[in-house]
Amino acid sequence: MGKRGRVGVWIIIAVVAGVGLLGIGLRKTTGEAVGAVSRAETIGLTMGTVARVVVDAPEADGAVAQVMQELDRLSVLFDRFRPFGDVAALNASRGEWVTLSPEVLALLQEAVRLAEVSGGAFDPTVAPLIDLWGFVEEGTHAHDDEPGAGDDGAAHDTPDEVSNAAAPTTSNTSSSPTRLVGVEPPDPAALAAALELVDYRTIEIDAAHGRARLGILGQAVDLGAVAKGYGVDRAAELLRARGAVRGLVDLGGDIYALGTRVDGAPWRLGIRHPRKSGQLLGILHVSDAAVATSGDYERYFEYQGVRYSHIVDPKTGWPANELVSVTIVAPSGVWADALATAVFVLGKEKGLALIEALPGVDGILVDRDLGVTVSSGLHGRVDLMEGV
Ligand code: AMP
Ligand code: MG
Repeated sequence: MGKRGRVGVWIIIAVVAGVGLLGIGLRKTTGEAVGAVSRAETIGLTMGTVARVVVDAPEADGAVAQVMQELDRLSVLFDRFRPFGDVAALNASRGEWVTLSPEVLALLQEAVRLAEVSGGAFDPTVAPLIDLWGFVEEGTHAHDDEPGAGDDGAAHDTPDEVSNAAAPTTSNTSSSPTRLVGVEPPDPAALAAALELVDYRTIEIDAAHGRARLGILGQAVDLGAVAKGYGVDRAAELLRARGAVRGLVDLGGDIYALGTRVDGAPWRLGIRHPRKSGQLLGILHVSDAAVATSGDYERYFEYQGVRYSHIVDPKTGWPANELVSVTIVAPSGVWADALATAVFVLGKEKGLALIEALPGVDGILVDRDLGVTVSSGLHGRVDLMEGV
């Protein structure tokens, strides 16, 4: 049986629109008790995406329920559109100090650190640009009457067991996987004005007093680009604390692979092909690591034949377009999530240099011509599909 066929048999974790990874190698429900350990699995909508958690643990049902509850909590905590929420308060503070809950402050601090590490390619103050470009899903925008009623849900059709790599992606009827507010590039003057507000270096953090402030009037932070990464980290932490022996947490493509498969081999995660819908680019072997993918197929619109996708270069204000997909393997979900975005902005050469410079970080970069570059630490840990 060819690679592709074998993969087909084992794909379990389906993927949502715009998500790069398919979990492979889990049986859907084994029902087998391994000593005092049993398996539980759940799928649910949280943090704006489909979450899937599979775990072998004592009291596995309780463990997955606790994880889902925790993700729901984080979903609310980091939402910048939540009225009176921490992030909304910071964004409305007009340069005043704002006391933040410890987790929001810590994630903001980590986001600033990742902005520094990436030379500003990842920048948590990019929110005004994202809003201007309209890379916000219709129906989930703050000013919408029906929050949460976006098209996103449609993408999650049947994120259930699939018998081959043709994971449910999204409606092919629209040019974009999720219906976005934006339909064309913004007015240059408006873009220049928004760009003035983007600069993570103006964020001041006063950790001793648990507060932060933004240096430019009108500036806004968005922790959305690292929130899912934080979610998988918290999920892994909870599962470990409950004695889990293995598990996979998939938050719409931000994944944590805990432990190994039952046979002791690393987990196998399928990397979605950025252009061939339902096909895999390759399979990644990982254990006790986080994996995140940023792709230009996740959220985009097309205007006059050009694709404008949701990751913008904070230096130019325009969507980055040198790469079409970046998968990062890192010790933490926050790092994997932020670095996938950062490397997407940096492009192949600078992106690879950053990956190689960071211990424990690896990546798979796909350029516009569909050329695949694998960082040195992943050699032998990635099976690329034939003909990709
Ligand atoms: P991801 O899909 O994880 O790469 O995250 C992309 C999301 O992060 C986008 O939908 C934007 O809200 C935001 N974003 C886009 N570009 C950047 C950037 N250069 N730095 C930080 N966040 C970004
Ligand atoms: Mg990211």
